[in-house]
Amino acid sequence: MRRLPQILCLSGHDPGGGAGIQADIEAIAAQGAHALSLITALTVQDSHNVRRRVAIEPALLAEQLDCLLADSPVRAIKLGLLGSAAQLPLIAATIRRCGVPVIADPVLAAGGGTALSDEAFRDQFRRELLPLITLLTPNAAEARLLSGETETLAAARRLQALGCAQLLVTGGDEPDAEVRNLWLDAQGQAQEFRWPRLPARFHGAGCTLAAAIAGRIALGESWQEAITRAQRYTHESLALAFAAGQGRLMAERLR
Ligand code: PLP
Repeated sequence: MRRLPQILCLSGHDPGGGAGIQADIEAIAAQGAHALSLITALTVQDSHNVRRRVAIEPALLAEQLDCLLADSPVRAIKLGLLGSAAQLPLIAATIRRCGVPVIADPVLAAGGGTALSDEAFRDQFRRELLPLITLLTPNAAEARLLSGETETLAAARRLQALGCAQLLVTGGDEPDAEVRNLWLDAQGQAQEFRWPRLPARFHGAGCTLAAAIAGRIALGESWQEAITRAQRYTHESLALAFAAGQGRLMAERLR
């Protein structure tokens, strides 16, 4: 029987399909792996912004996880938008239970501006989850908000000091002429990747990148390979993006 590497995804649901769990499933399938899709929150949103988030009860998530993990081996965990601070102890326990690499995209605010975290959530996230994360993929604004530092490299170093093994800080929403993504590896070495800036604004780019990295790590690639190839996949998907609504564009390439 053929087996595909499986990635446990804990992400929010975007009914528009551009971000969240649907972006995870599409990006992971495109790398040749399979997503186990646990939904942390439902949302009310369009291609412009998130209007409301409704968290899934931790007890339901716990039941889904117990049922699934007793049956399915997982090679990596991918975290996206989380539903509430009440879910964090369960997610931390799940990471400890699985003992596999964790790729986490800390979704602290929607691209349209709605806050999806408050200081109490961020504080608990830093204490309970950050030390368990193998690769954190914040955008530069999220790295500043989580670290309290204003400069990208200083923010990444501060978050690494707080416990996550590696970071990839993305610059897609920064004002630079090129997109500059900064990888801080487990030895503290910084490496910058530069990509041509596409002439549009995108919805779900961060979810796609983090999920593609998780898929490639589950397939056995090194961090250097996975981070480089997942960025290329994301860039190519965004170059083929389409307008689903009247707001920002969504990644299109599936394979
Ligand atoms: N909704 C969900 C469920 C998400 O996971 C995210 C981002 O990861 C968003 C909305 C916001 O996406 P963006 O900031 O790319 O518009």
